[in-house]
Amino acid sequence: MSRKSVLLVIGGGIAAYKSLELIRELAKRNISSRCILTRAGQEFVTPMSVAALTGEKCYTDIFDHDDEVAMGHIQLSRSADLVVVCPATADLMSRAAVGLASDLASTALLASDKDVLFVPAMNVRMWEHPATQRNVEQLKRDGKQVMQPEEGEMACGEVGLGRLPNLNSICDEIERLLGGSTGNTLVGKHAIVTAGPTIEPLDPVRFLSNRSSGRQGYTIASALLDLGAKVTLVSGPVALPVPSGVDGVHIETAIQMDEAVRDCLPADIFIGVAAVADWRPSQCADNKVKQKGESQTEISVSLKENPDILQTVANLKDGRPELVIGFAAETQDVLEHAREKLHRKGCDWILANDVAGDVMGGRENEITLVSCDGAESWPRLTKDAVARKLATQVADYFEQKETPNE
Ligand code: C5P
Repeated sequence: MSRKSVLLVIGGGIAAYKSLELIRELAKRNISSRCILTRAGQEFVTPMSVAALTGEKCYTDIFDHDDEVAMGHIQLSRSADLVVVCPATADLMSRAAVGLASDLASTALLASDKDVLFVPAMNVRMWEHPATQRNVEQLKRDGKQVMQPEEGEMACGEVGLGRLPNLNSICDEIERLLGGSTGNTLVGKHAIVTAGPTIEPLDPVRFLSNRSSGRQGYTIASALLDLGAKVTLVSGPVALPVPSGVDGVHIETAIQMDEAVRDCLPADIFIGVAAVADWRPSQCADNKVKQKGESQTEISVSLKENPDILQTVANLKDGRPELVIGFAAETQDVLEHAREKLHRKGCDWILANDVAGDVMGGRENEITLVSCDGAESWPRLTKDAVARKLATQVADYFEQKETPNE
């Protein structure tokens, strides 16, 4: 089933915050969003929140040179399968009914050649006003879809018609206009994700490890699950709960992670996000190693190389997952190392990221996706947004592969 997209125009009403949730709900139904945020909309939600959730630039200004160069307003208005105005304010609907092109949102509505769905939300008196009702009638006569708002208590305290319809009915209506359910494109696929650090014991109480929080791997597991995949998360010790619906396998050392991954195969997708320790102490003392009691005493630890899990999975002769993806955390020459790693390890995609700053343990990530087809840089995104973007690309990969050429 093909992945659909909407151009979401977010108007300036208190219900604007619900558009953020709408973006997430649509993503779960495998519908991507590209957004225009009106000037008034920016009083309620920020372009940054919108960009973080969509994984794309949020468009705000028709006279913004950078926006116009990135994607002209005419192209923007036609770039999606459906245009959705949510929340549709009285002002936006009146401008659309008249055909004004006074800002980016109204210009896009006028220039678009796609169906348009208005999802109104406003105070009851504003909704019932003859001017608004005339505009709604006009929009319907022009072939636009206008949802009926819900009845109930409003943010302003008044009660009546005017509340934004609930998100499920908005999503259902969007799906209907897009031509039926778009489904979850990873249904029937098994994904194994590794996450977190491994810890390599020196003695019963001490170990070597790294700063990985596991956050990126956990968000990826969650995003794959949202697209319908069966997900196994093989994780080192972290302070995060396994997302509900994901099968969690807890390990400590690289050797245990290697064994756990093999036990969980076969899989269609393998994503190695774990910061696997490259070496382990050659020997783990049976008892706690004692201090010598002399400061400045030097002790040395000999290390042995750990198995490379990603490389092993990518080179399986039998039962190699269809798509094997690794991460390359680097502090310098990121792209060069990522390309080298892609070939050396034999994986299909490498997500390269610069961890020189606060990425490890932090909430954001800046990714370049490297494959044998080339490299694609993503904007700086939250780890959650990176996860959704990656899951979507994985779904697109399988969809393209499985859709016979027409
Ligand atoms: O070589 P480097 O450690 O930078 O490679 C990173 C990628 O390889 C990550 O995807 C990581 O999960 C994986 N890896 C692995 N086993 C190792 C070391 C790294 O699977 N022993």
